[in-house]
Amino acid sequence: MEQGNATDGSKQKNQEHVAKRKGEIGEYKINIQLDQLPKEYRHLVDIMVENPKSTSGYSQIDHVLLTPYGIFVIETKNYQGTIYGGKNRKQWSVNGKFKMMNPFKKSHRGISSEKCVVCHKQVTDKVADFCKNNKRFAGKIYCYDHQKNIGK
Ligand SMILES: [Zn+2]
Repeated sequence: MEQGNATDGSKQKNQEHVAKRKGEIGEYKINIQLDQLPKEYRHLVDIMVENPKSTSGYSQIDHVLLTPYGIFVIETKNYQGTIYGGKNRKQWSVNGKFKMMNPFKKSHRGISSEKCVVCHKQVTDKVADFCKNNKRFAGKIYCYDHQKNIGK
């Protein structure tokens, strides 16, 4: 019994180490790709941006690419195989086995694509879910301020 627990512990530790190493290899691969881009492109790595909605007050962005065609935000993941997902799906599936967070959601963390039907202000995912699951709002989305007068 005791021996069994010890084995499980070290196996788990090893898997964490493997996951971290895979992440490092992923970063190395993308750096090779980015080095091949035209000279006029600018590339920023590991950027911290202020985000009052995050618990730390900041959000981390892996790569920002400044090009004549636009600014691209790149989030690196080192997964092999087939990734299924869609822009509006909360979670994507990797090889049909495990889930990853929709990367589009990460860069707009907390903000949904839904707007209040009264003032057209964008609401958070939490507010949008609350309205959709509450019969009082009849399937419509209302911001905190405009929820008060609905269905009373
Ligand atoms: Zn409103």
